[in-house]
Amino acid sequence: MAEGAALAEQDEYLHPNGQSTSEAAFELHVTATARSAVYDRPGFIPAGELAVVSGRALGYPGADLAGLAAELCAALVWKAAEGGWRVLDADAVEVCAARVRELRGEPEPLPGRPPARERPPARTTTEGIGRFGEPTARGGAASFRCARCGEVAGVVRVTRAGAPGDAGAPPGREAPREGGGLAMDCFLGGHHRTADRGVLDAARALIDRGSVDPAAIRELDWGFWALTPFYCPDCGLNYCAADWDISRAEDGGFREPAMGRCPAGHEHMVDENLTPDPERAPRRIVRMDRSWSFDGEDHVLSAAAYDLHLKAIFDSAREDRPGFVPDAYLDGLGADTAMVAELVDSRCWERADGGYRVRDWVEVEWWVGRVAERRRRAARNAWISVRTEQEEVLKNAEEARRDR
Ligand SMILES: [Zn+2]
Ligand SMILES: [Zn+2]
Repeated sequence: MAEGAALAEQDEYLHPNGQSTSEAAFELHVTATARSAVYDRPGFIPAGELAVVSGRALGYPGADLAGLAAELCAALVWKAAEGGWRVLDADAVEVCAARVRELRGEPEPLPGRPPARERPPARTTTEGIGRFGEPTARGGAASFRCARCGEVAGVVRVTRAGAPGDAGAPPGREAPREGGGLAMDCFLGGHHRTADRGVLDAARALIDRGSVDPAAIRELDWGFWALTPFYCPDCGLNYCAADWDISRAEDGGFREPAMGRCPAGHEHMVDENLTPDPERAPRRIVRMDRSWSFDGEDHVLSAAAYDLHLKAIFDSAREDRPGFVPDAYLDGLGADTAMVAELVDSRCWERADGGYRVRDWVEVEWWVGRVAERRRRAARNAWISVRTEQEEVLKNAEEARRDR
């Protein structure tokens, strides 16, 4: 009985969009998406494809493919389109397309470039405010004005690694790569993104030329979308944070993705990622209120100790020792002993054999879940990539046979 239930559970596949289908539907999804890339129509599955795929080993003999396709549509993994289906699982399409490019020795497209979107025509408000940024007095930066109130909506500037005033990445974040990054100030506190030198040079050139188009900055690197959140592509104008109607949630001091509505009612993501709040300066204090803390007690930490707390938890999850912080790990980090003492004093950590145990199991569980999700995604993408290669090999063999 229990075994039967376990088998039935295995038959369910949880897609990254949070919807489930049968495993058979997932296999159809992978096969058809792999073939869409191999046959140079990435993300499109012609209706006739089901007849071709059914002749192959899906691993589910006798499966009703039309039924599986309907299942994928119901789970928003596919969408019915003219003459077939469109794959809504953009992640899978990208994995397949990348594998095909790799197998064929084709060059990578520009880093993570978003699908080309036509730039809106230049337009200005009655007050003469347009979307283009103006160079700032100190140079190397562009300032964008709010079309609603005329105040500064955001300032975008290029930072170089180790440049004065350029705060290093906080613990747990990616350290700036060689060449620095791009930073945005004023809108919701600010953001920083690391980027390769070539992309940064291009950004710097755009900024220095003056009248920089926020749409052009976004086209350089997908990561730069987060640095131009003030820009509404539908309006073709910028708005300050106060003029975006923003709904946000806060989770453990990290900002959650937030949606905003521009004054004209267009919805866009204005705060894309888990980014540490830059307003949390080192002297600031983090208070874990008893109403939501792990043990029903108040815990007060310096922001620096809290950052160490989060980084240690994240690494403990990643390194499969959830909630345990070995002494050797802290030595390797060069962690400040005063901060460790602070974590112990505040009863967030306790001494254990060979290290410390994190008492904050709420945070530990959350990070364990995130690490598991990331691993699950990696395994899925590896499988999609393998299936793509197999389909490419089959296609080449078929072509070779035909040419003979
Ligand atoms: Zn404004
Ligand atoms: Zn708008």
